[in-house]
Amino acid sequence: MSRVLIVTGGSRGIGAAISRLAAGDGWDVCVNYVAHAERAKEVVESVRACGREAVAVEADVSREGDVLALFAACEEALGAPTGLVNNAGIITGFGRLDNLADEDLRRTFEVNTISYFLCAREAIKRMSTRHGRRGGVIVNISSRAATSGMPGEYVHYAASKAAVNGLTRGLALEVAAEGIRVASVSPGLIDTEIQRPERFARIAPTTPMQRAGTPDEVAEAVVWLLSDKASYVTGADLSVTGGR
Ligand code: NAP
Repeated sequence: MSRVLIVTGGSRGIGAAISRLAAGDGWDVCVNYVAHAERAKEVVESVRACGREAVAVEADVSREGDVLALFAACEEALGAPTGLVNNAGIITGFGRLDNLADEDLRRTFEVNTISYFLCAREAIKRMSTRHGRRGGVIVNISSRAATSGMPGEYVHYAASKAAVNGLTRGLALEVAAEGIRVASVSPGLIDTEIQRPERFARIAPTTPMQRAGTPDEVAEAVVWLLSDKASYVTGADLSVTGGR
């Protein structure tokens, strides 16, 4: 089976690490980004340096039209995707719920949750044996926040990730007999630009391992789930939290 992977938000942080490691494991990679074209280009160059094909595609994955264009661009450049990593995410709005703005609540769910549904839907059309295709794998990047709830800080973000866990479990069962595996990875505190520096410095030493994780440590788990080594794993969530 050809190995063509779409990574949403592949330009930076965890998505960039996944794109690079997946290339090392034999995947051609469609690197999606929304704003940082230069960073996406660097990731594309790293993938090509591994001897794999790559393309960078600008798309705001919270918008249906952009998602359709992203999948069409991937098919044209690399072929139909057999892997999808739903990774693009944001944290917008901080504090108790009674201080959060309507705009931050809506944007959080559009980017962190709706985009995962839209991309998974388009992936299934190209992977399912029900649609005459040969199967595939979807990995959703959730968060430890989904189960901790993040009171006083990001209850809305936590809830947007709890919905991702629901998507993972339900969709895994829906397509299990159609050649598609669906799983999630839940990172704890990872050193990327999504972090508020003050909070990051305060929380990192309090984890059981007394440090934050790296994007590569998350990517290793994702690339394993994408691989045939995880051939009997579906509907599962893999925690990458340093014990948190
Ligand atoms: P990051 O460094 O801020 O990177 C975010 C990525 O998402 C960037 O590539 C960005 O693209 C892309 N993106 C944002 N909005 C987008 C949109 N509307 N359409 C397409 N792409 C979009 O964040 P990260 O820490 O790597 O986070 C990656 C995922 O891991 C997120 O889902 C996050 O919630 C989850 N996570 C992170 C942590 C952590 O501690 N870091 C913990 C648990 C879960 P541009 O470069 O173009 O802006």
